[in-house]
Amino acid sequence: MDGAGTPAKATNLVLLGPPGAGKGTQARRLEERFGLVQLSTGDLLRAAVAQGTQAGLAARAVMERGDLVSDEIVIAILRDRMACDDCRAGVIFDGFPRTAAQAEALDALLAEAGGAITAAISLVVDDAAMVERVSGRFTCAGCGEGYHDRFKQPSATGICDNCGSDAFTRRPDDNAETVAQRLRAYHAQTAPLIAHYDAKGVLTGVDAMAPIDAVSESLTAIVDPATA
Ligand code: ADP
Ligand code: AMP
Repeated sequence: MDGAGTPAKATNLVLLGPPGAGKGTQARRLEERFGLVQLSTGDLLRAAVAQGTQAGLAARAVMERGDLVSDEIVIAILRDRMACDDCRAGVIFDGFPRTAAQAEALDALLAEAGGAITAAISLVVDDAAMVERVSGRFTCAGCGEGYHDRFKQPSATGICDNCGSDAFTRRPDDNAETVAQRLRAYHAQTAPLIAHYDAKGVLTGVDAMAPIDAVSESLTAIVDPATA
């Protein structure tokens, strides 16, 4: 409730940017800082692949090629996740929407619950740097914390800073060839959404070639201008 006694509107953020831009890294930080839920359709699809669900079986080869999974599958997965109670506090959409149809579906889904996108943040990067970002990425198998061979190593070699696990994973699609296809898909199908959110008056661009902590500061200032 705000001071006037009306229910406060949930914060719903969209992080836009090509593979490697830092969406997952920043979403985890915003989640912790603002008590929001990170909703990554890539993570949901990887879980569906691992579980061998019908959606996972259909998505697997598409993801290995670096193409986009069908709107039908992705929107259904997103809708199920958004029905969970924890999403009411507000969501950081990481890797969704990626097409005009997904953006429209998201607007409609939020509107049904009386909500809307409060900010869409475009992480602006040089494509040429994304191959190194993505190829050097690894993730803690215990808690999902993200690391990088060059840009973000755990403080103690081989031990996750966050949960102490010594098990890490690398994604099969994080290779130079697939990244090139994923970048093409981003520019063809997702980059046009920048104009969609600009037209709604909720778009902000952030220099995401800056170090991770500097990007976090920019995002925090957008979500909570009082901190700027
Ligand atoms: P995305 O979710 O957009 O694909 P990630 O957040 O997984 O990207 O970041 C890709 C890789 O680049 C990770 O290994 C991460 O540690 C690293 N990274 C993220 N942001 C930066 C940055 N600003 N500078 C250098 N490396 C970064
Ligand atoms: P990500 O984890 O965001 O890098 O996504 C990994 C892969 O999952 C992408 O290359 C796509 O194949 C698929 N994917 C994730 N999110 C979406 C989406 N919103 N629409 C279509 N495909 C997606």
